[in-house]
Amino acid sequence: MNMTIAISTCLNAITLTLQQHADEVAELDQAIGDGDHLVNLQRGLTALTQDSSSLDKMALPEALSKIGMTLMSTMGGASGSLLGSMFVTMGKTAKNTLADFAGLVDIYAAGVAAVKARGKADIGEKTMLDTLIPALVSLQASVRSNDSLMQAMQSLQQAAEQGMLSTKDMLPTKGRASFLGERARGHIDAGARTSQLILSAIADEVIQ
Ligand code: ADP
Ligand code: MG
Ligand code: MG
Repeated sequence: MNMTIAISTCLNAITLTLQQHADEVAELDQAIGDGDHLVNLQRGLTALTQDSSSLDKMALPEALSKIGMTLMSTMGGASGSLLGSMFVTMGKTAKNTLADFAGLVDIYAAGVAAVKARGKADIGEKTMLDTLIPALVSLQASVRSNDSLMQAMQSLQQAAEQGMLSTKDMLPTKGRASFLGERARGHIDAGARTSQLILSAIADEVIQ
């Protein structure tokens, strides 16, 4: 069990899980978006991976800010500006927050708040927030009840998966999918799926 995993380790795990689910993710954004979500994410990930040895050497606040700026300048798409804002905000918050488990959850909470603000969206709108918010609620509950790191990561994985699945029957009210209205029902949101894959891969690395 290891709470302080290297950024390069996370990036490798995320790259692998997205490769393993590439066709599925591409199809999700093709069904109710414009089909580029996987490629957008991979463009960001490639840029981060090229930079991973320097990211590993940085202090957490600087690394998170650098990740955010890289995502903003390389990804494009709605997800690029949303995830970029998320990491830039986490970098700012990390400057004044202890990086123990509770502190990391606070840093993540600030990141989720930044996505909500940037996207003018909340839970229930069929977006990545339907994964990110339940994951946050689960982490905050784990902090309050002093769960073991193992328990916290398993609860996080369950909450993220439930949240991702919950997007299937939702009516989209933000992003490209909202243009489809009722026709978008029955499809899982691509950003909710990739957020869940990413959180789950990081949790697996922590549990190992
Ligand atoms: P684009 O929609 O510009 O092509 P992507 O395909 O990379 O960008 O990302 C689409 C994902 O971004 C969606 O699946 C959804 O999860 C997320 N998203 C879109 N708009 C918003 C928003 N306003 N708030 C939160 N998430 C959003
Ligand atoms: Mg798209
Ligand atoms: Mg696009």
